[in-house]
Amino acid sequence: MAVLTIQEVSAHNSESDCWIAIHGKVYNVTSFLKDHPGGKRILLKVAGTDASKEFEKFHSAAVLPKFGPSLYVADLASIFPVAKKEASNAIFTNAPGLGLFGDGAPFAQPAWYQDTFSPYYKDSHRRLRNWVRQWIAENRWADKSDAWEEVVRSNRKPDEEAFTSMGIAGLTRGITGRIAWKKQPYPNIPDLPCGIAEDEFDYFHCLILWDELSATPLISVNNSQPYGIVPVMRFAKPALRERVVPKILRGEETMAIAITEPGAGSDVSNISATATLSEDGKHFIINGEKKWITNGVWADWLMTAVRTGGPGAGGITLLLVPRGPGLTTRPMETMGGILSGTAFVTFDNVKCPVENVLGEVNNGFKALLSNFNHERWTIIVSAVRNARRCYSEALHYAHRRQTFGKNLIDHPIIRDKFAQMVRQIESTATWLESATYQLNNMRPEIIPERMGATLALLKVQATKTFEFCAREAAQIMGGIAVTKGGTGGTVEKLYRGVRASAIAGGSEEVMGDFGMRQSLKVAKAMGVKL
Ligand SMILES: Cc1cc2nc3c(=O)[nH]c(=O)nc-3n(C[C@H](O)[C@H](O)[C@H](O)COP(=O)(O)OP(=O)(O)OC[C@H]3O[C@@H](n4cnc5c(N)ncnc54)[C@H](O)[C@@H]3O)c2cc1C
Repeated sequence: MAVLTIQEVSAHNSESDCWIAIHGKVYNVTSFLKDHPGGKRILLKVAGTDASKEFEKFHSAAVLPKFGPSLYVADLASIFPVAKKEASNAIFTNAPGLGLFGDGAPFAQPAWYQDTFSPYYKDSHRRLRNWVRQWIAENRWADKSDAWEEVVRSNRKPDEEAFTSMGIAGLTRGITGRIAWKKQPYPNIPDLPCGIAEDEFDYFHCLILWDELSATPLISVNNSQPYGIVPVMRFAKPALRERVVPKILRGEETMAIAITEPGAGSDVSNISATATLSEDGKHFIINGEKKWITNGVWADWLMTAVRTGGPGAGGITLLLVPRGPGLTTRPMETMGGILSGTAFVTFDNVKCPVENVLGEVNNGFKALLSNFNHERWTIIVSAVRNARRCYSEALHYAHRRQTFGKNLIDHPIIRDKFAQMVRQIESTATWLESATYQLNNMRPEIIPERMGATLALLKVQATKTFEFCAREAAQIMGGIAVTKGGTGGTVEKLYRGVRASAIAGGSEEVMGDFGMRQSLKVAKAMGVKL
């Protein structure tokens, strides 16, 4: 690794040879002068110098990983004696094996990344966290959003690598939940990530993956894979299971869940898409519409709820429908963007083999309910991470934006906004870890009844926290957080994603009501008298 002194850098100070140093790294920005969004003049002003302070005033931390690697020349020789830095660290460092992970900004990362003790995370969790963050950085997944959005807008699937990379690395298995952590009966699926043994892999490993991947577009494009595959693993006939599951877990094929209709959302038992048996009894013929189907634009398989019997939950069957004649999907551009491939789906006499029933005819509601808890838990994990991202973006910005002669962070009213965000993020994250510990330890067969209420109420808490943090972060950042792209672009985009997490997977009102009803039901069943 080359190291240059600031004197050496200072020789490169002209339009034909322009180098600058930022955060200890030297960049040759000569070819970038014409592309710099703020114009070349501002770069030439700091040519040949350490421009870290000027850079921080106008850019978010996300800019350097995007443009930096192609312009990097060398590291900048440190002007501070290393020993002094180590000595000051030692005062605060907690214990060997802990330490800071991430940028170290207080509360911007989960507590256990911040040199604190935790009963939940062991060495394999730390290894996985370090590995997945490096995997994300090396592959530059966070930078792929814009290109993939363009592809989806034209009703096409993002690059295959968006799916196969997740599959090959074992990440699709990792984010799916307990049933996918066992390799049997699918010998041809990839190993779990980071070499973690299947009997060691637990919900905290799964949490780490959802948490870290939430900051990339990979979660949006792969969103329905882990939700859709579980009912197939649990309820499909062996031949169908063996045909579909390995391909989904390897990322070679994709799934969507088609339940909601224009006329039936929260009230799932009211769906009206029909499936009738063909004359030869070999197929169901499906007619109807489904709306807001995540990843539906490109899904090879749609796990579809249809009416085969009378009204209500008792007349619903779950079918695994392959893409084929009569099935059309068209993209719906939602407030949160286009990357999830949200689709309006039309079934016009679509044929689905009778072998593709998941569970029993007219008993599909049971199969449907079986995965709601995992879906809600993943939305909670992502909402907490996204709340932190809003907080973190605003915190960094508040250290460089000056108003009335002070940095924003030096105004007490602004500090209080951060305090309100932190107390909500940390209490929600702590409840999430407690719930995750229950998922690890509770007998799987009682999880749906016992954890349903907690996860429903926690989902409300998490999405309200995300909403609060998006609002406050945008308020702190002012106009730039109302502007697409640039320094405030991350918060602007996250803010638009709030409603989707508060509505999809069970909306706040319905979750609150269900959470209370379910917890009272469980208490009663356990003999509690109120
Ligand atoms: C981004 C996104 C992705 C989605 N992905 C999928 C998907 O992949 N597959 C799929 O099948 N569906 C998907 N959905 C649909 C989602 O599940 C529904 O939007 C959700 O269930 C709510 O249904 P609805 O939008 O029809 O609202 P409605 O059911 O019409 O409710 C409207 C409002 O009234 C409130 N409300 C409803 N009933 C009550 C009540 N009894 N008491 C008090 N308040 C009530 C709700 O909370 C909501 O605020 C997605 C939705 C979004 C926004």
